[in-house]
Amino acid sequence: MEEKHITMNKTQTLVINCGSSSLKFALMPNDGGTDPILSGLAECLGDAESSITYKTAEGKKQESLNGGDHAVALGALISYIGERGWLESVTAVGHRVVHGGEKFHASVLIDDKVLAAIEECSPLAPLHNPANLLGIRVAREKLPSLPQVAVFDTAFHQTMPKEAYLYAVPMAYYRDYGVRRYGFHGTSHRYVSEQAVEMLKLDPKNHGVIVAHLGNGASATAIRNGESVDTTMGLTPLEGLVMGTRSGDVDPGVLFYLADRTKMSISDLDNMLNRKSGLLGVSELSNDCRTLEEAASNNHEGAKIALDLFAHRLARLIGGLAMSLDRVDALVFTGGIGENSVLVRQMAADRLKPLGIALDPEANKKYVRGLSGVISGATGPKVMAIATNEELMIARDTAAIAEASRR
Ligand code: ADP
Repeated sequence: MEEKHITMNKTQTLVINCGSSSLKFALMPNDGGTDPILSGLAECLGDAESSITYKTAEGKKQESLNGGDHAVALGALISYIGERGWLESVTAVGHRVVHGGEKFHASVLIDDKVLAAIEECSPLAPLHNPANLLGIRVAREKLPSLPQVAVFDTAFHQTMPKEAYLYAVPMAYYRDYGVRRYGFHGTSHRYVSEQAVEMLKLDPKNHGVIVAHLGNGASATAIRNGESVDTTMGLTPLEGLVMGTRSGDVDPGVLFYLADRTKMSISDLDNMLNRKSGLLGVSELSNDCRTLEEAASNNHEGAKIALDLFAHRLARLIGGLAMSLDRVDALVFTGGIGENSVLVRQMAADRLKPLGIALDPEANKKYVRGLSGVISGATGPKVMAIATNEELMIARDTAAIAEASRR
């Protein structure tokens, strides 16, 4: 009863993030609140064991979807919201879309033309965009009276200059196939850099910020005066930093060499670089930073070298990103590792001395588990830990665009 009472007279935005066999959701308040009233995940969609988990202030509740697909999951979610009397308060639906190619520079209201344009971007993200499109189609069908908005992972990086986004390969591949660097995690980089500018009282029109989003996927971005000017991910999320199971940068020659020596196929190589590399591949133990920290403290050699490689690459690429800025006012850590790993932040900072970066060890220990704050000492660029909130950013964009569409 309490739940109903709390939310009845507030409006909400439903945020949806569809994967190939999953659907993440959050019901975000439109009043600027940062915590969802409801969040959760439907997984194993299409499989016999498909299920949906709802998380509210009252706790978690899991239900079987009896082999149901995305449509069944969304149907269950809408019923759940409806039963609590929350459906009338939902004003719009925001969808995370992975790839917007060069077509989308910002979030947009979805219509048939936008759907077709997202579809045209599918070859660039063949695993993600079709799943995102499926979510949009099902949501439009089930909630036809609500405006639907697409928020792209790539959009924030569309401000990168040519020299940052082009690869030095024949230009015909860019022209004919869209081969260029797009960058990802844009919603997180945008949210976190805006938070940093606000919290540090930087001039919105004159600042240089580097954001390191370190989760299972990891990327770092240079932001000048609110715009992304360079980022570490490329055509796909494989480029750049060492990640949980992705290699990040490797000499492309490694692939030709391995194909020759081992006769691995293109899909074997793809699988190796995306799923068997990174922290997992190097440590030969785990892709999970917590597990590796624990193992490293017990002298596990693989875990130690994996964390060293992670920190070395991170510092090297942050150093490179700094060259796209006039100066570095702030370095911000976010994502599961960035928000929580006191060790990785310290290891990266130790390697970033040439940028004048130095942490305050006590502050570094303090800002974990969603607590945001300054972790640097008195000198040099400010270093911060900031909890990302992609759902909030998607909800904000969605609410603003939906509101404008009603005028
Ligand atoms: P995703 O990219 O899947 O959203 P997350 O942002 O949740 O991933 O980040 C997951 C990573 O964060 C894992 O490597 C996990 O070990 C790491 N992580 C979470 N909490 C801690 C912690 N307290 N210390 C170190 N690493 C942590």
